[in-house]
This record gives sequence, C-alpha cells and structure tokens, in this order.
Amino acid sequence: MTDTATPAIDGWFTTGPDPALLGSRCTTCETVYFPPASGFCRNPGCAGEEFAQTPLSRRGTVWSYTDAQYQPPAPYISGTDPYQPFALAAVELPEGLVVLGQVADGYGVADLRVGAEAELVVETLYTDETGDRTVWRWRPLISGQVVEVGEEADQ
Ligand SMILES: [Zn+2]
Repeated sequence: MTDTATPAIDGWFTTGPDPALLGSRCTTCETVYFPPASGFCRNPGCAGEEFAQTPLSRRGTVWSYTDAQYQPPAPYISGTDPYQPFALAAVELPEGLVVLGQVADGYGVADLRVGAEAELVVETLYTDETGDRTVWRWRPLISGQVVEVGEEADQ
C-alpha cells in the first residue's frame, strides 16, 4: 500500500495503524447503523433525523462466511479482471451490527469458523491514476491472535 492510498469508498472507514469502520449513531435513539445512515432513522419507533459519526469496534465474531464464486454487487469493486473468487465473512460487532466484508489477502474459507474472532484491516482493493484505493477486510483471529497465512487454523 502506498502513501497516497485512499479509501475506495469515502467516509465508511478510517485508515492508519488501527483502522475502524465509521457507523452513524442516531442522536435520538442511539441505534448505530453501518453503512452510515442519513435522512430518517430506520428505527420505526424513532423520529430522529440526526446522526453522529461513530467508529465501530475493530473486532467481532464471524457470524457466517462464504466463498464468493460470483462477483458481488456494488460497492464491491473487483480488483482483478477477470474476476477471481474470494472468501466473504459476515462479522457481528459488539454494537449488534453484522458487517459483510472480503476476507484479508491470503486467507480463505479454511481459515474461518463461525464464532471465531476477526479483526478489521484495510487493504488495497485496486490501483488507479490517483494511487492505491483501499477497502476494509476481515482478518481471521484464533484465540485473539493473528493466524499466519498458510498456518493451519484447526483450533
Ligand atoms: Zn433513532
């Protein structure tokens, strides 16, 4: 990743050594949304219209995962042409949200287990004339530790 790396989607996550997704919290009912909400609160019992940007937890637990054999819809932008299958994980955050994301480079479904921890990382999605464009991904953790690529995740 280069110094000129910028998020492929503006305002959805922070970068740097401890990246985090940016959700929005309804200032009326405190419900947290990701992707960031705007306009009216989706809570049917709430008339709130104002949201505060709030960084989400960087770690969650794997709720589900799959091999993406077909290209997912936007905002997923394929970094490769032709499209190459990859693993997707749905990770449940302590805020109660389930966030879908691609699994970090070098990891696949063999590294994933429902209920295991995963940590947010930011990696290059594709490169254009402005430099690297980045996106969040989920990196599997075993007992809170990073699993080295190629190591058996059999615990
Ligand atoms: Zn609300």
